[in-house]
Amino acid sequence: MLWRFHEVHHSIEEMDWIGNWRFHWFEVVVYRTMLYPLAAWFGFGVAAMFWYGVVNTLVGHFAHANLRWRIGPLKYIVNSPEMHIWHHTHPEAGPENRNFAITLSVWDWLFRTAYAPLRRDPRRLGFTGIEDYPRNVFTQMAAPLRRR
Ligand SMILES: [Zn+2]
Repeated sequence: MLWRFHEVHHSIEEMDWIGNWRFHWFEVVVYRTMLYPLAAWFGFGVAAMFWYGVVNTLVGHFAHANLRWRIGPLKYIVNSPEMHIWHHTHPEAGPENRNFAITLSVWDWLFRTAYAPLRRDPRRLGFTGIEDYPRNVFTQMAAPLRRR
């Protein structure tokens, strides 16, 4: 069910920093509902959450940027364009279910979901059926609720 909401984000067919802000609003509700109470329980304050949001957004913009930068050994810690583009790979153009990290790629390396080949560009981004996916923001917001 959550994939249907995350599909909005994966409907980008070219990497671009602004793609970081293409997502369904319900995803934010789900993620923040899980994160904020847990962070508060561990004692993180408002300032820590603010700076988490700033760093998360900046790394997200960087990871979605259409850059051919390689960040060397930092790729084992922080997300980057060379890794995140493979998260968006169309199933016909590369492996699926890789590079889930939003900010810290170290989790992907730890859980063996990391994929960072030397070849930078998958042939195609998106998902199966993207040709029929809605194109404007309003129809994309309704797309997860439609029957298929
Ligand atoms: Zn993305």
